[in-house]
Amino acid sequence: MIRGAAGWAIITLVMSDQPSSYPVDARGFVQQCAWCSLVADERGRYVLPAPGLLQGWSVTHGCCDSCRRRLEAAMERRRQARCTLASC
Ligand SMILES: [Zn+2]
Repeated sequence: MIRGAAGWAIITLVMSDQPSSYPVDARGFVQQCAWCSLVADERGRYVLPAPGLLQGWSVTHGCCDSCRRRLEAAMERRRQARCTLASC
């Protein structure tokens, strides 16, 4: 594994019979959004497509900015609905 200037490197994961290469962070983990399955590039931007949720010791799951905004909006709508029902 060769590390770039920002500490990122590339590893190859084998999912079924199709190997795929993804960047890994300075800790050696592929970062993937658990909601949309996009994988982070060398700059930490979730832009790389994946065939689904990656599994294994070298993958960590988080939440991309797009999914975070969507989840926060959904939580706010729920909060507003509860406040209306509870007359708060
Ligand atoms: Zn996402």
